[in-house]
Formats: sequence, C-alpha cells, structure tokens
Amino acid sequence: MGYEIPLRVDANQGWGFEEAITTLKALEPFNIQHCEEPLPRWAFMQLPEIRRQSPVRIMSDETCCDHNDVQRLIDLKACDLINIKLGKSGAFLKH
Ligand SMILES: [Mg+2]
Repeated sequence: MGYEIPLRVDANQGWGFEEAITTLKALEPFNIQHCEEPLPRWAFMQLPEIRRQSPVRIMSDETCCDHNDVQRLIDLKACDLINIKLGKSGAFLKH
C-alpha cells in the first residue's frame, strides 16, 4: 500500500555523514526515487562515500550552482543526479 506513489527526499544539507548513511539505509524499503543534498554543501568531498553506501540515489542541489560545480561533481562521482535551478545558477549563460 502506497508504494506506487513516487517519493523523493530533500535533506536540505541537514545531515552529518553518519546520520546520512543511517537514514538513507533506513529509507531503502520505501522505494525513494532520490535524496537531495544529504550533507552541508561544504562537505561535498564526503558525497562520493555517501553515494557509494547509499541505497538511495543522491541528487546535488546546493552543491551545484554552475558548470564548474557540475564538472567537480562528475569528477568526484559525487552524485547520481543534479537539480538545475535557473534562479540558483543565474541564467543559461554567464558573461
Ligand atoms: Mg533541494
């Protein structure tokens, strides 16, 4: 019952490393589509390990504001998805 409804989680940078791992593993039975920004944005170097241990796909939001952030997240294999918001990024093009 209820498993046909897609669920997504946004931690809004609210968890520490251990809390994120514990919580994401506890969420596994609930078929969560993805979890946004489990850690504070400045802790992005821990995202690859969160992603490796998490049964829930990881989406970057606040850690990604421009193309340089995208490249860094890809290089680190830090997330599965990126939430692109024009209001956060400024515009399609930067001059
Ligand atoms: Mg978000």
